[in-house]
Amino acid sequence: MLQRFSSFSYRSYRRLLYGLATFVLTLSISLINPQPSYGLSWIELMLRGIQIVQISNISNTQEVALGKEINQELIRSGQAKIYRDRSIGNYVNQIGQRLAKTSQRPDIPYTFQVVDDNSINAFATMGGYVYINTGLMAAADNEAELASVIGHEIGHIAARHGIEQMRDRALAQGVLSAAGLDRSAAVQIGVDLAISRPNSRADELEADRFGLENMIQANYAPAGMLGFMEKLLKQGGTPSFLSTHPATSERITILRQRLDPQTINIGNGLDNRAYSNRIAALN
Ligand code: ZN
Repeated sequence: MLQRFSSFSYRSYRRLLYGLATFVLTLSISLINPQPSYGLSWIELMLRGIQIVQISNISNTQEVALGKEINQELIRSGQAKIYRDRSIGNYVNQIGQRLAKTSQRPDIPYTFQVVDDNSINAFATMGGYVYINTGLMAAADNEAELASVIGHEIGHIAARHGIEQMRDRALAQGVLSAAGLDRSAAVQIGVDLAISRPNSRADELEADRFGLENMIQANYAPAGMLGFMEKLLKQGGTPSFLSTHPATSERITILRQRLDPQTINIGNGLDNRAYSNRIAALN
């Protein structure tokens, strides 16, 4: 009796699971292709908390919404402490927006924030969110050097490295279903990725290339990128935003191959004194 009852309940359970999986799959498809507007609102209400993100073909709108949630969680948890000086924040935003416009991905909104942290570091998360540490701003000698780092971070976003990493991480953790990824799991993975920055060698070199092309498009002197990398090399120890692979020396070699010594100083941002005046509030 017990046996029959449990086999019955197992079948019902299977049926219920199957029904739910179909339902979730249907929902995720309708979130991506929301042509039939009927019913969406109650479905969304009903399934709040199990929203599915389809990583493989995420839209710009979804990516920006996900980035916004990751940003909120980074700040809420204290893992990114935003530096609250308006003149410094505005300055970084102004440089960032100038680069965003000429970037390989100008069609999403970008948010540039300064993190109150003395280490020489910068990072990005998906959907246009870029973070620059106060320590990095202080280490740069001029605006072109700072722009080279911001351009590199925009490069990661333009090349959608965060999305690829999120998919890989979700697969490794076994949380990626046929329908996609649970939204709250996606936010948690996004926070972990923003903090741990597991960029591969290929990703870093691609971000360098995108960043350099973008600097030139935005009329910043390419010397800024070379100058900042050489300074880091001299100081020894690689900050995590440049990760350990490839080595800074290798990046410099590759960068030099791309740069024309005749034009390296052509462009804006090489006035050291103007820069130190702009960031005076940091000291
Ligand atoms: Zn990077």
